[in-house]
Amino acid sequence: MRYLSTRGHADRKRFCEILLEGLAPDGGLYLPEQYPRVDAAGLQRLRAAFNGGAPGGYAALAFEILSLYIDDIPANDLRALCEKTYTEAVFGTAQIVPLKRLEDGFYLEALSNGPTLAFKDMAMQLLGNLFEYELARRGEELNILGATSGDTGSAAEYAMRGKRGVRVFMLSPHGRMSPFQQAQMFSLMDHNIHNIAIEGVFDDCQDIVKNVSNDLDFKRRHRIGTVNSINWARLLAQVVYYFAGYFQATTKDTEQVSFAVPSGNFGNVCAGHVARQMGLPIDRLVVATNENDVLDEFFRTGVYRVRASADTHETSSPSMDISKASNFERFVFDLLGRDGARVKALFGDALSRDGRFDLGADPAFPDAADRYGFRSGKSTHDDRLTTIRDVFQRHGVMIDTHTADGVKVARDHRSEATPMIVLETALPIKFAETIVEALGRQPERPAQFEGIESLPRRVTVMAASTAAVQQFIAGHCARAT
Ligand SMILES: *Cc1c(COP(=O)(O)O)cnc(C)c1O
Repeated sequence: MRYLSTRGHADRKRFCEILLEGLAPDGGLYLPEQYPRVDAAGLQRLRAAFNGGAPGGYAALAFEILSLYIDDIPANDLRALCEKTYTEAVFGTAQIVPLKRLEDGFYLEALSNGPTLAFKDMAMQLLGNLFEYELARRGEELNILGATSGDTGSAAEYAMRGKRGVRVFMLSPHGRMSPFQQAQMFSLMDHNIHNIAIEGVFDDCQDIVKNVSNDLDFKRRHRIGTVNSINWARLLAQVVYYFAGYFQATTKDTEQVSFAVPSGNFGNVCAGHVARQMGLPIDRLVVATNENDVLDEFFRTGVYRVRASADTHETSSPSMDISKASNFERFVFDLLGRDGARVKALFGDALSRDGRFDLGADPAFPDAADRYGFRSGKSTHDDRLTTIRDVFQRHGVMIDTHTADGVKVARDHRSEATPMIVLETALPIKFAETIVEALGRQPERPAQFEGIESLPRRVTVMAASTAAVQQFIAGHCARAT
């Protein structure tokens, strides 16, 4: 299997070459040259491997699917990496992604039982083990630099903690994350994890990351890398739970299901698109956004319009507060018949010039719905409150704000004939304030997080200065850790 760039660069690369890379050299995103097709016999084999979610089933399924895309890690090693990642010890349940039935034909797939209680653990935990494996094989080290306002940073830290060859430097806006999120990140005492609280807002943190990444000399000298959501390995790891959800909701491989996905950067639902292209019988892929409706606007009108940061709403489903959807280019590449030159003109030229492009009149646009199954909708703060209340009263299940966006939009697109699976992307405890607003009571706290706010903290507060951050990184790289 070789990987190509969505912007038409001539290079073809193998999995481990793109594993530690970000963008392709032409600024595009990596995709496999083609999606491996799973035929009827293949689907039957995958269902057998998953074995209804019996212990080890999810790891076996992950190994089968990853093997279709990774041919430069020996099979036994890849199997061991999957088995080490997808365990009850890490994900709290032997099934890893149990399906919860709300009512006939309407399910939640629980993706948030990992260490940080959000779905990003599903991919990030595997990435941590892949990085450690590949860096050891090369005899290299990597310093991961990132900016976070919540979920991504904590998922990355919990995935990389204690890993050989990897250090994490994570910037966050000082005093602006939720108390629970701060406690989650800052209580990590692993010597390879460095929390840096920047006196500023999230954009200041992101600017510093950009400045450091543009300092090519510094970047090379200190082996700076990232774990952002455009990493192909993260997307690939997410493909697995679409199969696992399908096998739990159906008994025969001829049945169809639909998925509804709370979306921000289009990483989660893009994995659903890949699963569908492989032949998983998915009817609809429902994209749910909050007030930041960049994606809903596209699927309704064909207009993709990046928002200015001043026009990005701060909402009660903050992990979906995006101004552009970084993985969206991958879908547009497929939609336009994999025409790299056109994708380059749209994402490389038009977006940076006009901040928008319009495919509304393009003959390919109707394919987004007709051929690729996409539907979309948006949800507001009031919708979240109503949905959280309704699901709790009718089904006795407490859902978080992001999942509520998914449930709301899923209901708008449900058809009687096809089961609908909503991806549960976080647990309510992470967004307790809105749960209290909706239900007048505190969400349950998983036992391992009891008293987390009073644990000792390890964090360095710093001015919003690129030089200061570079000095901090250089200082820590010089030490033998
Ligand atoms: C990151 C995140 C999302 C959005 O996922 P994308 O892959 O960016 O579309 C939704 N919900 C939660 C809780 C998240 O952390």
